[in-house]
Amino acid sequence: MASNETERHCAVCNKTVSFGLGGEANWLEHVGSKAHQQNKRAAEGTKDIKSYFNFKPKAPRTSAPPAAATPSGSQGPIPLQPAPPSPVLVIDDDFAPDATPVADAETTTSDPRKVLLARLRLVISTLPPTIPLASESDPIASFAINPVTLVGTGQDPWEDVIHGAIDSLMYDGARSKNSLELSRSIRRGENGMSGLADWMEKCFFVLQIPLGMLEPRIERLIQAMLLLGASTSVESQPSPTSQPVPEKMSAHSKTSFGCNGQEIPLKDGQSPFLSYPLALHTHRELPWSVEFGPKLIIRSYECKRALEASSICAPCKKLLRHPTIKNLLERNEDGPKPGTTFAYLTVGNMQTLLRKKNDQINGLKLSGLTLSQTLLVRATHLEAYSRLRIAVARNDVPRIHTIIANDLKNGASLFASLEKVGRATEGNFNPKSYVRSEHQLSYLLWQLGGRAAAELGHRCLGLPSIPTVKRHIATTPLVVSPKAPVKDEMQHNLRISYPTPFASSSDHSIGPGF
Ligand SMILES: [Zn+2]
Repeated sequence: MASNETERHCAVCNKTVSFGLGGEANWLEHVGSKAHQQNKRAAEGTKDIKSYFNFKPKAPRTSAPPAAATPSGSQGPIPLQPAPPSPVLVIDDDFAPDATPVADAETTTSDPRKVLLARLRLVISTLPPTIPLASESDPIASFAINPVTLVGTGQDPWEDVIHGAIDSLMYDGARSKNSLELSRSIRRGENGMSGLADWMEKCFFVLQIPLGMLEPRIERLIQAMLLLGASTSVESQPSPTSQPVPEKMSAHSKTSFGCNGQEIPLKDGQSPFLSYPLALHTHRELPWSVEFGPKLIIRSYECKRALEASSICAPCKKLLRHPTIKNLLERNEDGPKPGTTFAYLTVGNMQTLLRKKNDQINGLKLSGLTLSQTLLVRATHLEAYSRLRIAVARNDVPRIHTIIANDLKNGASLFASLEKVGRATEGNFNPKSYVRSEHQLSYLLWQLGGRAAAELGHRCLGLPSIPTVKRHIATTPLVVSPKAPVKDEMQHNLRISYPTPFASSSDHSIGPGF
């Protein structure tokens, strides 16, 4: 090129660049301009497809440019690989072959596609080790190929190939998957997200798919990976020497991550430990497990755990409508009905029941003791009656009715009566309460038979003794008339002999018996 030309035709832009006063500087300015760079890349991209085919046709995938975040060929777990420390990128020369140093420096810092890809690789590198490595059969493994090989001649790369391929991952039928659903497809390794990143890179730089087509999809993949515990910063990822984080811990270390299980509502003051019928699980097959803590949590065996971002997953939420849980809530509210099977009782119910049973047992024990005491007393009395009967049958107890009557009147016990009867039998006891007729009988014996007859009656028949009779029978002696009886003497004697008829009718004496 001559230095004195005034204009030059740029084959890339198909446009004539006028040198004007600037001369060569104007040309350099045009070469450095954005428009030129874009046109140049477009031209080179087309050329690159062919060169790519010619150069390494047999091993398309492993020939992928080793990006900064993922050294090619490495089979080790992604998070253990060093991630780029900053968004400043080192771009492989394969995709910017003829760039001038100035243009190259500009591209490394400003190409949004490379920034996006670097971000994608960074997030991929921080995926937790608990995310499984992709196998050949995983859907995501279909991206572990060179997309260039899919594009036939005359096909539009985006419309005919790439669009369908990427949306087979992003869509479930006609419905766009949300981040949660997408996160279930995420796998690590060369067949997984690393392969997908390589695939994206080729789409950008070989097939020239516009950024706007792939960017929203890459963003959704990044969101899905963040849900799984990946990170957008290097600092938070574990160092290569650290132990893999257990799944449960990593799930709990992120609030708003993972299903918390369904809480069973309890009344104020009810302890979770006392409010669940544990024995029910041995009694029946129940589709949940229980977690005790500040709250009572049940977790479905179909719980989505790590893959659900909301606080409760659908299978866990559904448990509240399970008839067994409904009944449990009712029993916790109103207390169990009497006769409820033990398996349905909570520990609290059982404690209450045990206390009730203990009270019942104590009451029964006490009444048993009282009853046996009563029976003992009754038995002793029965024995006393039987002895009394034998005593009466064997001996002719004089005046036994007096002994019993006196004891009944005084409220003395049967044993006192028995003892008196015994003593009376032996002659050591004489009942002293005589009725008038006994006094009179004894007096009669005394008067008719003399002192000996009265004594005999006292000893053998239990009649009052002579001194007793004397105290009770007051006798008024008859008046003896020394000569013919006078009227006063006769009236006195008649009054004694017939006391009542003459008491008030002294004027009309009609003689004895009248
Ligand atoms: Zn759940």
